[in-house]
Amino acid sequence: MNTLRLSSSHYRSVKKPKMATKSTDNLVNNVGSPESSNVYSECVKKTNWMGQTLYQNPWKTWRNVSIVRFLRYNVWDADHSKIPSQQELDDKLPIVKGDTKKFVEPSSGVKMMWIGHASVLVQFDGLTIITDPVFSEFIVFGTHRRYRSPSCEVKDLPKIDAVLISHNHCDHLDKASVKQLNEKYGDNLKWYAPLGLKSWLNTNGCNNVIQMDWWQEEEFSTEKRTKFCCVPSQHWSKRGPIDDFKTLWCGWALIGPEHSFYFAGDTGYCEVFQQIGRKYGPFTSAAIPIGCYEPRDLMSPQHVDTEEAVKIHKDVKSENSLGIHWVPSSSRTSITWSQGKLCRK
Ligand SMILES: [Zn+2]
Repeated sequence: MNTLRLSSSHYRSVKKPKMATKSTDNLVNNVGSPESSNVYSECVKKTNWMGQTLYQNPWKTWRNVSIVRFLRYNVWDADHSKIPSQQELDDKLPIVKGDTKKFVEPSSGVKMMWIGHASVLVQFDGLTIITDPVFSEFIVFGTHRRYRSPSCEVKDLPKIDAVLISHNHCDHLDKASVKQLNEKYGDNLKWYAPLGLKSWLNTNGCNNVIQMDWWQEEEFSTEKRTKFCCVPSQHWSKRGPIDDFKTLWCGWALIGPEHSFYFAGDTGYCEVFQQIGRKYGPFTSAAIPIGCYEPRDLMSPQHVDTEEAVKIHKDVKSENSLGIHWVPSSSRTSITWSQGKLCRK
């Protein structure tokens, strides 16, 4: 388990059954005040000249990044990651093995363990779930290396019922990790993903894929009555050179008979979190990103900073939130993955 004196926030066992009042109707495309009841933002879907669906964020807080700005950031800009030395990383952020044995026997309450980046192991109401599983040391054709190893390996994981995928960026959907999970669990695993990702998951060996649009809901099984709800996030998608926005991005709200869990995925701040809180909150527990937010002119539409993460915690009415998608340094910036040119320094 990666830790910087995070104490119990890394591994939490929380109790407090509380059910939310829910309404599943009246989806409106970004109309009215976020405080208004029964107003829920919908994703905008457009068709390009090739007849392919492109997804778009509906909020004014979103803006597309120009290719020039993107290139400047990647090629000429200063290194915003401020990665500490290996010595400082080892001193301040020792990698502590996560105790996955605690997840073997489901118990009352909610258990959460941060594996690293956006990967979280969660257990409540008899279900064990993993979010955005990434166990690889290198991603994006081997050009991006992680600075802290995950707190456990796939072989250490307990029985898992479901995987939540938030979007297709390589630091959230890793082909090698998907393969490893399929080798270990086969078709016993249910994969929950946003629209457009089913074929990729099928191609990579996932046969049990539930693909959902924002605000769609599905019960896990008649026996285990936890509801899996796909909820909006303000982000984007890209995996190859010309596939921007062709698959959807999302967060997940899981509502069980006794407890609930919210996974924000990758997101910038927008009005939708109040809607999620109103529709599904309060949540017993949540995993909310707090890193990779600088430079703000580039990152603010797609990644929240720490203050905005706290706003999300309050908006969705979470009782216990875990900060994810970060590796801290001595300053207020963070990035878990970096390009090869940086890690060779
Ligand atoms: Zn992303």
